Amino acid sequence: MGKTVLILGGGMGGVVAANVLRKKLAAEHKIILIDQSQDHFFYPSLLWVLDGGRTPAQIVKRLDRLDRKGIIFRQAAVQKIDLAEKKVLAGGESFAYDYLVIALGAEHNYAALPGLTPERSLFDLSGILAAKEKLKTFTGGKVFVVVAGAPFRCPAAPYEAAMILNDIFRRKGIRDKVDLRLFTVEDQPMPVAGPKIGAAVRGMIEAQGIKYFPKYKITSINDTNSEIVFENGEKHNFDLLLVVPPHKAPDVVKDAGLLGETGWLPVNANTLAAKTPGVFAVGDITGVKLSNGKALPKAGVFAHFEAEVAAKRIAEEINGKTPTDSFNGGGSCFLEVGGGRAGLAFGDFYGVPDPKVTMLSPLKLWHWAKIIFEKWWFWKWF
Ligand SMILES: Cc1cc2nc3c(=O)[nH]c(=O)nc-3n(C[C@H](O)[C@H](O)[C@H](O)COP(=O)(O)OP(=O)(O)OC[C@H]3O[C@@H](n4cnc5c(N)ncnc54)[C@H](O)[C@@H]3O)c2cc1C
Repeated sequence: MGKTVLILGGGMGGVVAANVLRKKLAAEHKIILIDQSQDHFFYPSLLWVLDGGRTPAQIVKRLDRLDRKGIIFRQAAVQKIDLAEKKVLAGGESFAYDYLVIALGAEHNYAALPGLTPERSLFDLSGILAAKEKLKTFTGGKVFVVVAGAPFRCPAAPYEAAMILNDIFRRKGIRDKVDLRLFTVEDQPMPVAGPKIGAAVRGMIEAQGIKYFPKYKITSINDTNSEIVFENGEKHNFDLLLVVPPHKAPDVVKDAGLLGETGWLPVNANTLAAKTPGVFAVGDITGVKLSNGKALPKAGVFAHFEAEVAAKRIAEEINGKTPTDSFNGGGSCFLEVGGGRAGLAFGDFYGVPDPKVTMLSPLKLWHWAKIIFEKWWFWKWF
């Protein structure tokens, strides 16, 4: 009797899970992937849209391409997850499942910051395009990158954005006319990677003349006078503002009673199994506590490796074998520093008592490695 594996979310975790399952399971078993969007969005390339390295069309792939591989794609918003009945309501249609993989990612919580819109967001295409448009005629002024809340996806991204902006201004010959600042709620860059990596990243941005303001919590944006206000009472006027929005788990996951006290979905750190039998979760939606008490960062590399493990374990179970695959907390991430160079951080995030992370110095090689990875990603999964 064929089984049905239902995957919610066609982002980095969801597409990997769907592909791996399809490869491991016979055709009698159905793999259905549901996403509200028609496109898979490759976020690691989003910041390259800002400096013209990519067009928006170059960083997406249509999810219905998966149909060719025998993966059923449905474009629909997930409305309800019914764990007791093993059913999901999406786009008004009911989907029964034997196994469920939740890969719905993290949502931007605009309501949590008065004045924030997608057009001001560093993590939305509309925000990147609005900034790119403004940069065309920009001749100088105050440019702020602000991290509004933690955790957020890709701990390196705001630092990369500031350095890419620095490079844009340098190439335009207006760097000396720009006051470039990075405000963040964090107490250091990439906190989970430890103080040494944090100091290295801080050193990189400060060497580019980017002023760094840790432990700054933004409380509102006022568009009429282009002003941001911080919890400590400081007010600053800006000419260009890009904000990393506060993140939250999608309501549909909360409504299913799946969230833990951290506000994210707790899973077994090695198997990615949720508390309910047959239910797995991967990627940004999950909350995985590390040995030092911090949370595993939200990053595509973890969504990818977790999805491989969850998919293999489900396939082994369906194929009557004992699941053996285990996620070990290994991961790496490129850090774009502008000028066509990138650093590379990698390590064991399940290290005890702390994650063991190493950072390799910026080189053109790592920038090219990221470009090759992007191409491999689309080739491998689509
Ligand atoms: C600017 C930027 C740069 C980044 N760079 C890197 C990098 O260099 N390296 C790295 O490892 N990570 C990077 N990341 C992080 C990475 O993109 C995420 O960690 C990764 O996408 C998480 O994968 P996911 O599958 O958990 O979620 P996502 O990829 O976000 O996918 C979630 C999917 O669920 C869908 N969805 C949500 N709610 C619903 C609903 N109710 N109904 C139907 N569908 C729904 C969404 O449409 C989406 O397709 C970056 C992120 C950003 C924003």
